[in-house]
Amino acid sequence: MKDDVYYMNLALKEAKKAQMLNEVPIGALIVIDDQVISTGHNLRETEQNATAHAELLAINEACRATGSWRLEDATLYVTLEPCPMCAGAILQSRVKGLFLERMIQRLAVQAHSWIYFEMNALTINVMLQAVY
Ligand SMILES: [Zn+2]
Repeated sequence: MKDDVYYMNLALKEAKKAQMLNEVPIGALIVIDDQVISTGHNLRETEQNATAHAELLAINEACRATGSWRLEDATLYVTLEPCPMCAGAILQSRVKGLFLERMIQRLAVQAHSWIYFEMNALTINVMLQAVY
């Protein structure tokens, strides 16, 4: 059955791809209507590009795949809380849902980006949920 845990496991596989490249292991996945539209894993070192974060790569690919910058029907699965740059892109792309792996446990060390995102999320009603 394809549920949130299934999709998060796919995002974790993306994170492993990054790890195999000696990147910080972060993976992301975008799902629309129970179909995987795009995937992304951290490629910052490989591409020597400060913006090559998993979430941004997945959002860019989803925009190309759908032909729209509005990802209002999309759910994003990410293995780590988004940094402020990615949080901004998530808000701008209007994804309807965001699932984070073990969000609660990591809250203490990622408090800054979490607070940033939560404040903005309130205004556009992004659903936040932790998947364990
Ligand atoms: Zn980021």
